[in-house]
Amino acid sequence: MNDLITLTAAELAAKISSGEVSSVEATRAHLDRIAEVDGAVHAFLATDEEVSLAAARDIDARRAAGEALGELAGVPLAVKDVLVTTDMPSTSGSKILEGYRSPFDATTVAKARAAGLVSIGKTNMDEFAMGSATENSAYGPTHNPWSLDRVPGGSGGGSAAAVAAFEAPLALGSDTGGSIRQPAALTGTVGAKPTYGGVSRYGAIALASSLDQVGPCARTVLDTALLHDVIAGHDRHDSTSLDFAWPSMAAAARGGVDPSSLKGLRVGVVKQLMIDGVQPGVKASFEQALALLTAQGAEIVEIDAPHFEYAVAAYYLILPSEASSNLAKYDSVRFGLRVAPEGGGTVESVMSATREAGLGAEVKRRIILGTYALSAGYYDAYYGSAQKVRTLIQRDFASAFAQVDVIASPTAPTTAWKLGEHGGDPMQDYLNDATTIPANLAGIPGLSLPIGTASEDGLPVGLQLMAPAFEDARLYRAGAAIERLIAERDGAPFWAQAPALTGKAGA
Ligand code: GLN
Repeated sequence: MNDLITLTAAELAAKISSGEVSSVEATRAHLDRIAEVDGAVHAFLATDEEVSLAAARDIDARRAAGEALGELAGVPLAVKDVLVTTDMPSTSGSKILEGYRSPFDATTVAKARAAGLVSIGKTNMDEFAMGSATENSAYGPTHNPWSLDRVPGGSGGGSAAAVAAFEAPLALGSDTGGSIRQPAALTGTVGAKPTYGGVSRYGAIALASSLDQVGPCARTVLDTALLHDVIAGHDRHDSTSLDFAWPSMAAAARGGVDPSSLKGLRVGVVKQLMIDGVQPGVKASFEQALALLTAQGAEIVEIDAPHFEYAVAAYYLILPSEASSNLAKYDSVRFGLRVAPEGGGTVESVMSATREAGLGAEVKRRIILGTYALSAGYYDAYYGSAQKVRTLIQRDFASAFAQVDVIASPTAPTTAWKLGEHGGDPMQDYLNDATTIPANLAGIPGLSLPIGTASEDGLPVGLQLMAPAFEDARLYRAGAAIERLIAERDGAPFWAQAPALTGKAGA
């Protein structure tokens, strides 16, 4: 294994900027790693060595010419296939977009390129980001590098697995109901869902526009923060993007590295998130993490959020409703696949044959559900009620944040399950989102970081931190402190315990 792939993004960036390592060498090392393990992991849907190496050469040439480059310039980046890019196909994990080439880059990708990051490929995902295991990808599942017979979480399982398997130090994801945070938890990596509007959605293939948020994934809190700083900020192409002077997330993470920064931090634990379905080993890891916090002088406060128990139900009405509208554009005329029924046909029959062939079962299920929920006779009963529940959940958060600085919970109620274990029962996947969905409904930021492994299966457990809108930096400060405490407890950073490195299992 090439040493360059086990560096953090911050370390690799420092070596590149000092001239010790070139971007071409760093990119080559990661491409070699992909060639070595991705047959087993299947984190990537597309790579293009020539394109990536050309981008790396360009950065090296600009550095040699004395150009001032961003802190992460030259570092490889994996990009979730939900983000459109000009350099490789963009499919959102769907057959209906197979081979689709975008004429423009998503704003987050454009910002990453402007900062000198080198895209090394597009990562696998549940079709149109609908799922919690990456098993709904039309291109086959991704495997969890911690244990190849397990799911990596979803929908951004490809980005999380790529980072966990040392195929990329950084990745971009999107989080509509947990698709950055939950895969981070299941693969022992770090992922953040920014405040809604903090990062542009332009060029992110829409799932549910009022919930979708693009965000960063990495193996450390600081790396995640560094990528967050690159992609954050106002975008005139996205009318919901916030015109706000964001503080540096990396500065917050660096400030948090001293665990004494936790002294006096009020940490809320929501009663309703410690649900019955929480696996014992996940609960135990979470409680140990809380004990570490308390030992540093943080104060744990129990919070009552009575409407959280309706979050999953409300989400699975709001999301399908918005998705049914967003996905109507896949009509066989404007994008991607077109299937003509035998002997030709009408516009409707071509559209119908295309959707039949191009969309998977979960996508069809949600479109039907959403169309039904939005239909005139049922609008008030379903979509309208769900929106009211959303408001009540936002109020629960507001009253919680009147008492505490951050809210902590397990990121997901379970560790990674076996591929196929849910047997195609969508309810089991939906319930795994119970802990992440409330943040999307309220538009607030969330961060997941690894805090240990569950005693019953040795698989990673994630801690989720949530803060009020605009307070993303608070998450990085506290997250970096907790990460440090966990590393001190274990005698090594969490990522260094990955089986991919220790040879225990996985890649
Ligand atoms: N698992 C959730 C869902 O299936 C989350 C999806 C996401 O965040 N994109 O909708």
